[in-house]
Order: sequence, then C-alpha cells, then structure tokens
Amino acid sequence: MKNTNTIYSLAVAGVQQLIPYKAGKPIEELERELGLTQIIKLASNENPLGPGKKALEAIQSALAELALYPDGSGFHLKHALAEKYALNADQITLGNGSNEILELVARAFLTPELEVVFSQHAFAVYPIVTQAVGATAVVIPALHYGHDLEAMLQAVTEKTRLVFIANPNNPTGTLLTQASLEQFIGALPDTVVCVLDEAYFEFVNTVETVNSIGWLKKFPNLIITRTFSKAYGLAGLRVGYGLSSPEIADILNRVRQPFNNNSLALAAAKAALADDEHLQRTISNNTQGMQQLTEGFKSLGLEWIPSAGNFVSVDLKRAGQPIYEALLRKGVIVRPVGNYELPNHLRISIGTHAENELFLQALTDILAHV
Ligand SMILES: *Cc1c(COP(=O)(O)O)cnc(C)c1O
Repeated sequence: MKNTNTIYSLAVAGVQQLIPYKAGKPIEELERELGLTQIIKLASNENPLGPGKKALEAIQSALAELALYPDGSGFHLKHALAEKYALNADQITLGNGSNEILELVARAFLTPELEVVFSQHAFAVYPIVTQAVGATAVVIPALHYGHDLEAMLQAVTEKTRLVFIANPNNPTGTLLTQASLEQFIGALPDTVVCVLDEAYFEFVNTVETVNSIGWLKKFPNLIITRTFSKAYGLAGLRVGYGLSSPEIADILNRVRQPFNNNSLALAAAKAALADDEHLQRTISNNTQGMQQLTEGFKSLGLEWIPSAGNFVSVDLKRAGQPIYEALLRKGVIVRPVGNYELPNHLRISIGTHAENELFLQALTDILAHV
C-alpha cells in the first residue's frame, strides 16, 4: 500500500492548510436519517419563494439548445445588466456564482508574497480563496459585529493587494453607510484592489440608496460583486457577476474558463432581471419575515444582530451547536456560525410566513426544555 500522505505533501502549501467550506447534507438524506417528512431549510439564505415565473419559462425555452455550448461571452445577460445599471458591457464579468468572481480576483491578483485584508465574521469564502493561492490573510477584529473600516485601512501595507468587504455582511447582516465606504475606498492606495461584495444589496432597506455603482467612474481598483443566488432565487444555477473598470473585467476574463456559465443559467438570469414583480414580492416577504422573526426573538428574551440581509443571527446566550442539533431533530435546518467565531449565535434565513412560524415554535419548545 502506497503512503497517501505523500499526495497531501504535493499540494501547494496554502491548499495543504485549507479547511474546506462545510456544506449541509441534502434535505432528502436528512429526512431519511431523521425519519422526518417535512424538513424546512432556513440555512443558506436562498429565496423561500423560489425562482420567478419568467426565469422558469426562460429555462424551459433554453432546453432546446442544450446540445450546444453556451454563449461564452454571456452577450445577452451582460447587455441586460449593462442597461439596468447604465454601464458598458465591457465592465461586467460573469461568474459561476459570485463565488467564482471572488476566486478569479484572487487568482488574477495574488501571489504568496501578498496580503489580503478582511474583517472578522466576514464571509467564509474570503479566507478560502486567499489561502488557496498562498497569500496571507490579515483579519481585522470586528466592530459591533461589522467591519471596522478605520482599522482595516490602518492594516493596509505595501504588501496588501486586495481588500474584501461584504455589505451587508454575511453572517452578521451588518451594513456600512455609503459615505463611510466611499471614503474608505477613496483612501486606499491605487495598488490595492477592493472587492465590494453586495450579494444582499437587493434587500437593503434604509433611507440611503446604494450608489456604489456610481463610484466605478472614479475608482478603477473597485469591483462590486452581486448574485442571482439570493434575491433572484437561482442559487442552484450558479450565476453571479462583477461590475468594475473595463481593465479589471479584462484581467478577470483572461483567467476564467471560456464557458463558465451554463446556458440555462444565462437564460434564467436574464429573464429574472426583467421580473421586477417577483423581486418586489421577494423583498416584501423578507421585510415581513424579518419582523416576524425578530418579534419572536423578542418574546423569547433573545437578542439579535440587526440585519440588512435576508437572514438574521440570533444570540442564544449559550452554545448554538446543541440548539442547532435540537432544531434539526424537529426538522428545521438553520446555520451554526461557530466557524465565524460566533459560537453562541445561529443564523436563520428568512423563510415564508409558515416556515418562520414553524421555526419559532420549534425554538420556543427547545428553549423551554434547556
Ligand atoms: C451567498 C453569498 C455570496 C454569493 O454566492 P454565489 O451563490 O456564489 O453567488 C457571495 N457573498 C456573500 C457574502 C454571500 O453570502
């Protein structure tokens, strides 16, 4: 028998140290294991209403062309996005989920000598893509669960090539003001690329309008990432995009695979973009569900981190993992966030009214018996 440890020693150093992203089990498998029939999943910030009708119809029509390679330039989707955001198509990079954009940025801009600055409690993919290319992660302690922009700026050195910011942040849901962000990006050296991850921007519901796209004119080192996985309900198809200067888009397009988006995804995303009715329904369900959950937490005497996204992290004032497991046994999947250094919190994705109700009932039962 050969020694398989040799194989591990052959992987590049960063990959040897990597802890893979932990995905949940498929619902059907859990139902089988737990002997349950009606599991609800409030764990991955998906759209509880599903995709819109227009997206589903577009998928149906695109089925006829499945034998052909997809349009590798993403022509139609890029043009729809360009029109929506008043940008040029050459400022857009399409990805297999916005996760791929994050990875393309890391591959295109990082080497093992360079550093990447991001916040504690920030999205789990930032350390993964950083480490996979052997670069050094500089993690800045959070401020009130969110990004401490001042400390992040102070951590920038001549080795820094990349900064990741999630706004709203996952899993905390914290939101930075547009003014503080604009100032932060403006203060970065030209030699630092700033990734502004806006996976949840459609849910942002404040008096402030998100105007980050307007900053692209003055910040050639900025890339904004967005996705069809959350508000548009297409997580299973994997479509995300980057909005940037044409120069950054050109660089990312050099490293991406020629057919990184499949044809059903391209068709569905373009149709989803034109389905404002479904988007509005989604946002309104989210607003109501957020209120329903936080009122539930309040009556249980629990505190939560105010969230601008489609999820909320609740402080159980005790280890979250056993509560997560108890919820699982009652058929409710949520997300433990111990791996985000939030061991006493659980992150709950906003579901339908009925799903939120089932979750609150299960949580109430469990907390009455601990
Ligand atoms: C969900 C999420 C993404 C997007 O994931 P994709 O499905 O790959 O588009 C990106 N950033 C954050 C912070 C997220 O929570």
